[in-house]
Amino acid sequence: MAEAARAGDVVPVLVFDAATRDRIARSPRRAAFYCGAGGSLNASVAARGSSLVLRRGPLVSTVRALARESGADTVVWSSAYDAAGLARQRKLQSALEEAGLRAIAVHDAPAVPPEDTAAARSAEGGTGYRALVPYVAAWDEVRRAPFDAPVAFEPNELRSDALPQASEFGARPMLDEPSEARALAALATFLAGPALQYLSARNVPGGEPTSHLSADLSFGTLAARTVVARTDERLRDPFLLAEERLSLEAFRRAIAQRDFFLQLAWFFESRPDQALQPRMRRFPFASKHPALAAWLEGRTGYPLVDAGMRQLRATGWMHPRVRSVAASFLCFDLGVDWRVGRDAWERELIEDDPALAAGNWQWAAGVGADLAQFPRIYNPRKQAHSFDPRGAYVRHWISELATVSDADVIDPSSSERRPQLALALFNGNAYSAPVVDHEIAARDFLRRYAAFVESAEKKDVG
Ligand SMILES: Cc1cc2nc3c(=O)[nH]c(=O)nc-3n(C[C@H](O)[C@H](O)[C@H](O)COP(=O)(O)OP(=O)(O)OC[C@H]3O[C@@H](n4cnc5c(N)ncnc54)[C@H](O)[C@@H]3O)c2cc1C
Repeated sequence: MAEAARAGDVVPVLVFDAATRDRIARSPRRAAFYCGAGGSLNASVAARGSSLVLRRGPLVSTVRALARESGADTVVWSSAYDAAGLARQRKLQSALEEAGLRAIAVHDAPAVPPEDTAAARSAEGGTGYRALVPYVAAWDEVRRAPFDAPVAFEPNELRSDALPQASEFGARPMLDEPSEARALAALATFLAGPALQYLSARNVPGGEPTSHLSADLSFGTLAARTVVARTDERLRDPFLLAEERLSLEAFRRAIAQRDFFLQLAWFFESRPDQALQPRMRRFPFASKHPALAAWLEGRTGYPLVDAGMRQLRATGWMHPRVRSVAASFLCFDLGVDWRVGRDAWERELIEDDPALAAGNWQWAAGVGADLAQFPRIYNPRKQAHSFDPRGAYVRHWISELATVSDADVIDPSSSERRPQLALALFNGNAYSAPVVDHEIAARDFLRRYAAFVESAEKKDVG
């Protein structure tokens, strides 16, 4: 908006095209969030004396027609980062330029634009970063305080189509409508208390909450640069304890990590289905597994994985630590392709971030940025032991395990050795037995991985 205001009066526009409809229709909760956020954007533009112009139709022709109708000479929008979005954006840009308009895509989603971190690297002849640690160092170096330019809107008489409604997608409107005010209040509450425990919260799913801001960041009801600025402000509190300061810094790094994946998609744009590492594109992940449905439904017999999948299906969100464990289980214990997992989660998550989903899934599967020497295979029982030792999280999401002992909540299958409990746990409406033996499955995957790497290296040498 601020960039547009530099060119003159601003006409705020939302184009609801088939690609947008398609993406939000994949999850009813996502549709409800999007529609709620659209409603509150409309209200806040109206409160500033203008009106949001919503148009339904194909992106390029709709924007071009609207520019003509409003007499605009410049069109400004918030940039996409995923391959499909970037392709649409390029088409829009060239069509507008052909029509004699200035077309400007602004880096609104990240806190630090990809070019700013890349510039820190250009002296070495690089573009974007493939590794997180040097990226975060550059990010810290180049980030600036956000500008806060008020945007003046003029009233407009342009026709507007009806805003999309949750009911069009078979969803119920959210009771607490997503809005900038709601997101800022959630951020303030988080920074006042839970953020001071973020270092443990991001690992302990049954403990203090993480920020739960991913959907607001995804749909722009909250700007990443605002999160960084408010966190910096909080860090200026002289009464913070050392661990609290470290927690706030770790939280700020989470935003840097988000920026990292956005710049990765920006600079290393590949087909959305292609692993970043060329060698791993040929790795024979499976597209199916007899236990795939059990993974999707939270019935693998590994409580931490199942609790995560049930949380996702029930709420449209999963705790970050559990995401890594559940993704590792799919890719390594079941040997299933990361794209299968990404697509399954996409149908459940509220946030809609193809670049973040692809980056994280590739990372989890060991085929993306930051190639580790060996795949990072998580042991789901050990993870539960370390991060949910009393089973608070597992008991919350798996009713079958709500009343079992702490030891059994981590490893219910061990009760097979104790017949009475086994009867209670595994009968009728009881918790599933493990669909695979983790130890055997993980070693089997590592063997296949080592054989693949060895043969790929031979081919490379050949
Ligand atoms: C396999 C896998 C898939 C994932 N898919 C997505 C996805 O589709 N969309 C998505 O936004 N995040 C994804 N993440 C990253 C992360 O798990 C979520 O951003 C986080 O769980 C959101 O919860 P929160 O808002 O409470 O996060 P917090 O821990 O409070 O972090 C604050 C914000 O930082 C950003 N952030 C934190 N960690 C990451 C990360 N690893 N990558 C990118 N941004 C991060 C998010 O915007 C998040 O809202 C995925 C992680 C894994 C392991």
